[in-house]
Amino acid sequence: MKDFIENCTEMTSKKIKIGIMGGTFDPIHYGHLVAAEAARVKFDLKDVIFVPSGNPPHKKGQKVLDKTHRYLMTLLATATNPYFQVSRNEVDREGYTYTIDTIRDFDIEYNGTAEFYFITGADALSEVLTWKNIEKLFEMCQFVAATRPGYKYEELFKEIEYLTVNYNGRIHFVEVPSLAISSTDIRERVRMDLPIKYLLSEAVENYIYKNNLYK
Ligand code: ATP
Ligand code: MG
Repeated sequence: MKDFIENCTEMTSKKIKIGIMGGTFDPIHYGHLVAAEAARVKFDLKDVIFVPSGNPPHKKGQKVLDKTHRYLMTLLATATNPYFQVSRNEVDREGYTYTIDTIRDFDIEYNGTAEFYFITGADALSEVLTWKNIEKLFEMCQFVAATRPGYKYEELFKEIEYLTVNYNGRIHFVEVPSLAISSTDIRERVRMDLPIKYLLSEAVENYIYKNNLYK
């Protein structure tokens, strides 16, 4: 029995660690990239898979850019980082898309050999209790909560503690170099003909102008 338990522990610790960075990415900016890279380095993740959302229920009623544009911009922004990949999982799914279904698909794809680390900013972490099957999701993956300007450290720590104690969440913390950038602000700036240079990658900036997005 002891051997069996030791073998199981060894097998668990041998799992590869994969980061998952979910988001609307409307558009993807340096805040997303810096958070993903900080999590990758801190937790020694083999790769980080960016998952542009398909049709997320929490954005019901909000105007979100066509998913093909969001997917292509995510590809452009991540192309130069050998550890970053982009998944079509959610953009190809019909109907509302839920993170639990995405993680289940990845678990099957990796044949149970991967341990997933779901990366969220402080604002997104405070909303996870509204996500479908959050308790099952906490069982299936660990979370990495990244600092984000505008969200106090104490509140983030309180949230982490609350989710850990009450929902068995396995939530780690990562400090990210502060970039007060949001997609909402970028969309607004484009609409108002203000510069967006240095807020997001040049390739994405050019893509936005070329396709006349956010006007
Ligand atoms: P929007 O303004 O449209 O909500 P956003 O900038 O918040 O866009 P999302 O696609 O909603 O971007 O975010 C995806 C994930 O990235 C979320 O977990 C969010 O908390 C995190 N994130 C976004 N911007 C930053 C940032 N500047 N620093 C750290 N994390 C961020
Ligand atoms: Mg957001």
